[in-house]
Amino acid sequence: MLERREAFRDALVKWFGRHGRDYPWRRTRDAYEVLVSEVMLQQTQIATVLGKGYYTRFLETYPDVAALAAADDAPLLRVWEGLGYYRRARMLRETARAVIARHRGEFPRDLHELLDLPGIGPYTAGALRAFAFDLPGTVVDGNVIRVLARLMNFSSPVDQSQGLRQIWQWAEVLEDKAHPRIYHSALMELGQTRCRPGVPECNACPVAGFCLAQEPARLPVKQRKTAITEVDEHALWLRDESGRVLLHCEDGKRRTGLWKLPTRAGAEIACLPVVAEQRYAITRYRVWLRVHAGTAQGFAPLEGEAWLSPEAIARLPMPSPFRSVLQKLLEESTDRV
Ligand code: SF4
Repeated sequence: MLERREAFRDALVKWFGRHGRDYPWRRTRDAYEVLVSEVMLQQTQIATVLGKGYYTRFLETYPDVAALAAADDAPLLRVWEGLGYYRRARMLRETARAVIARHRGEFPRDLHELLDLPGIGPYTAGALRAFAFDLPGTVVDGNVIRVLARLMNFSSPVDQSQGLRQIWQWAEVLEDKAHPRIYHSALMELGQTRCRPGVPECNACPVAGFCLAQEPARLPVKQRKTAITEVDEHALWLRDESGRVLLHCEDGKRRTGLWKLPTRAGAEIACLPVVAEQRYAITRYRVWLRVHAGTAQGFAPLEGEAWLSPEAIARLPMPSPFRSVLQKLLEESTDRV
């Protein structure tokens, strides 16, 4: 396979020329726009990033590094709302600030200078070099790991450092250093459309003739199994006499600056009627959110809680599960008026 790498690249790139999908980040050479797409796509599906308009909306709100560097927390998190992993938005702003402070607003092309920027790891640095500047760089994400593990029939765990190191080495050897941009786009497209997780479409694969996989559906091998933990979450739905809703501003690691209905221990509010429910998943947790209706007089706001009008709430960032239950409850209470 490695000996025939030139023929492999040719087959891959030709197929991509005919079947590659047209994404906005494939049309641009602007490093900032490429970076936004890469960060959004790190933990979010293309269908969500594009189909729900996140990418376009973000670039309309923050069209360049200067605009993002000057962004305030609340509007920044509001435009990111629904994508999850909110630290990504703040880190993106840190990157923009560093690009302005250290490089006068122009992204560097040098690998080490890119790696020195906050929030830029080896994958993102390689992706920026390849997709924005068409410069060589190893670009290994989950798609590429899967494709290479299958192409090389690699049965060692790819979530262990030794296995991952091997994948990076193959990625480096296989890369088309003369045409990095198109080559990396093609390899990723292969992982997204043919060599997908689960059962791949080998009979429609442009590089099947190079592939060493014996049982591709079993690859890549992973050692770590993520245990899912079920969690109950109990929240309060309280409105005061002027229609304002009691909300709490999070200050934890994950969702700092996001607003949500205040939560309490289940035993404390179990006697109150449940008026809305929502199940959602976050990292390795599967959460069952139950919202209990109380009366405003019975509860004193705790630290970080505030009464807010529905108009103010619309402008504040909020985790999506809470946004859905809150919208539903506000609509129901409007219907009853
Ligand atoms: S032949 Fe199948 S397993 Fe091999 S690269 Fe193509 S889609 Fe993946």
